[in-house]
Amino acid sequence: MEGARTHNLRDVSVRVPKHRLTVFTGVSGSGKSSLAFDTIAAEAERLVTGTYPAFVRNRLPQHPPPDVDRIDGLLFTTIVDQRRFTGNARSTVGTASDIAPLLRLLFSRLGQPSAGFTPAYSFNDPSGMCPRCEGLGVVDDIDLDRLLDRSRSLREGAVRFPTFAPGTYRWKRLVHSGLVDPDVPVGRLPSAKVETLLYAEGLPLDNPGPDYPQHGVFDGIVPRLRDSYLRKTPSRLTAEEQEGLAEVVTRSTCPDCGGTRLAEAARKSLIDGRSIADWSALPVSELRAVVAAVRDPAVAPLLQAIRERLDALDSVGLGYLSLSRESRTLSGGEAQRVKIVRHLGSALSDVCYVFDEPSTGLHPHDVHRLLELLAKLRDAHNTILVVEHHPAVITAADHVIDLGPGGGTEGGHVQFEGTPGDLTATGTETGRVLRAPLHFRKRVRVAKGTVTISGARSHNLRDVTVDVPLGVLTVVSGVAGSGKSTLIAGELPRQHPEFVVVEQAPLRGGIRSTPATVLGVAEPVREAFGKATGLHPSLFSPNGRGACPVCKGKGVIITDLAFLDDVQTACDACGGTRFNSDALAARLNGRTIADVLAMNPADAAALFGERSPIARRLHWLDRVGLGYLTIGQSLDTLSGGERQRLLLARHLADAGPADDLRLVLDEPTAGLHGSDVDRLLALCDDLVDDGATLVLIEHNQRVIAHADHVIDIGPGAGFDGGTVVFEGTPSALAEDAVSLTGRHLRIR
Ligand code: ADP
Ligand code: ADP
Ligand code: ZN
Ligand code: ZN
Repeated sequence: MEGARTHNLRDVSVRVPKHRLTVFTGVSGSGKSSLAFDTIAAEAERLVTGTYPAFVRNRLPQHPPPDVDRIDGLLFTTIVDQRRFTGNARSTVGTASDIAPLLRLLFSRLGQPSAGFTPAYSFNDPSGMCPRCEGLGVVDDIDLDRLLDRSRSLREGAVRFPTFAPGTYRWKRLVHSGLVDPDVPVGRLPSAKVETLLYAEGLPLDNPGPDYPQHGVFDGIVPRLRDSYLRKTPSRLTAEEQEGLAEVVTRSTCPDCGGTRLAEAARKSLIDGRSIADWSALPVSELRAVVAAVRDPAVAPLLQAIRERLDALDSVGLGYLSLSRESRTLSGGEAQRVKIVRHLGSALSDVCYVFDEPSTGLHPHDVHRLLELLAKLRDAHNTILVVEHHPAVITAADHVIDLGPGGGTEGGHVQFEGTPGDLTATGTETGRVLRAPLHFRKRVRVAKGTVTISGARSHNLRDVTVDVPLGVLTVVSGVAGSGKSTLIAGELPRQHPEFVVVEQAPLRGGIRSTPATVLGVAEPVREAFGKATGLHPSLFSPNGRGACPVCKGKGVIITDLAFLDDVQTACDACGGTRFNSDALAARLNGRTIADVLAMNPADAAALFGERSPIARRLHWLDRVGLGYLTIGQSLDTLSGGERQRLLLARHLADAGPADDLRLVLDEPTAGLHGSDVDRLLALCDDLVDDGATLVLIEHNQRVIAHADHVIDIGPGAGFDGGTVVFEGTPSALAEDAVSLTGRHLRIR
């Protein structure tokens, strides 16, 4: 490939070997993703689209070609990223990993009595789903005590749901139906009348009032709510409707199928005394033993295929999950590993796979097993590209491409291409980090008291009681699924609400949110523009009067392809800036609003004056390691780790003096290069020295070694975890004979 200039890339030319494992590394913002995803994978995708018939092609969005002079020898390319599985309650670990169809086939052959053919075992098929809950395993019902405020009359708004609020169409139908006196509190109406108001369907009315909308027929409140809301998938409801529903609906396990989602015939069909629902509820590590006990030569190849995939799930550190677990409850890292298993199962070869930091969320112990799987995928004649920082993954690569030297405009150059061994000997940041020995803290800080988590039993925790020291840096470690998040992000803040958890989860507002809006500087920036130009500040908002009329201020056009993921393309009218031409014509110090939003935090801070409140808030972005972002970048271009550091920046900008700050961060180094990890640790030290209490859930060896106190959860995952296996200093952990975390600290 020659002459790539996507985003910050400076005429990059590289050679990526086929049928090898190549790692793209470099400090955050150096351009790894711009090269691997936005240039190589994007061009491959564009070429594939080009082979479709014109009929299909015209219905797909037209991708502009990436800015590159020449790419040769591209393969069919698949991106395996950390996007979470969203929304759909019908997707489970079993369906997403493609193991579910194999189990159905097995049960249709061996289950006694057989429920029929394969679809009869699928909760996503009408013949297999529980008719009561339609295969969802839960039923929603309206809680009348929450829905009705019986102290109020209909006219006063006794029905507590947004679409029945006074003045609405639905409210008029109730008030003017002539069925009851609309001015009597509902609690004093005859109960038979209330029943009618609630449950009537198509009731002909004798005396509707003059303002009664539409014909003389009346439908009760409950059937209306059921038809309009309960049957819709949540993503199709407005936020207001979802919140309104959450107020009045109770959700419970389906009484017919007991939450298994399956129709009776499928639930009653057994292999060795267990149904397909029983199999799906077991952790994968235990299901392996159950499958191994099934011996029937007639289905040997099928059993073999099932065993291989269960083994693969276990090898990527997911043995603690059950196949029935809903995919949308998985973290980004877990989701990516489920996708890896799905691809391993497909028989394709000569495919190019592009992975986005697959080590996220993995203990060193699990990273080694992940590497074995990637090697297996490569040895099946596939080409593997991985964007990674993890030293073990870099070391295991056949070929490394190191970008840098810095982030953003300071990056975009290839610093090194070659073997990991040669990289270690170079002067690049990555070479330096690979050589650096683990640095254990010599003198740990003394705690200023403790809080105790007591009797924690949620998920897999086994009655855990543990002290968390105050005023120091604590790291909580352990293999994936051992119970770290359940204990520290769940139980700790539940028992001690002064602890704040900074989440990695997507932020509200999605595509319209940017670092500037999250940090609260968007408004002051608009006001500064308003003051400088004499125009109304709202003209400088892409969500207000400044919006591009074509994309409505989103900067992109989103195409819903129904059967595929949604696709986004930059808006032609505004060139992706989100603004209309009036907004773009105005300038502050020679810059348009779009210019300012395309700046990094340091440049933007300088423009508004280093002492301005805008600058003071923006500087937190540098300190949390996000100095390479532009302040107007859409948040859906950020990874989970980046979002978490952005929220951390907001929190710190809001918090003021840090002395009573108590923060929980879940894997804050996700997506960070080793040298950025050092900067994050320096920030942690500053905060703790100012009196803050920090608790980090982490796998990174450098972070563990840097802590004042370590709590190691384990020994294994799921049922094999859930206990505290070590508490103490990092150097004592490295000596500990039992803990897996300790063992890896020794061998590094
Ligand atoms: P890395 O993967 O090494 O962390 P990226 O390739 O994501 O780095 O980013 C390189 C540079 O390109 C950064 O300055 C980043 O802000 C910028 N960048 C990344 N994505 C986009 C985008 N969608 N639009 C504009 N600039 C981007
Ligand atoms: P860690 O943070 O150490 O990776 P977790 O606390 O996420 O581990 O998980 C501990 C156990 O709790 C695992 O067996 C996991 O499957 C289970 N678990 C976690 N979240 C949920 C959930 N939302 N529903 C059901 N089980 C869960
Ligand atoms: Zn059911
Ligand atoms: Zn536009």
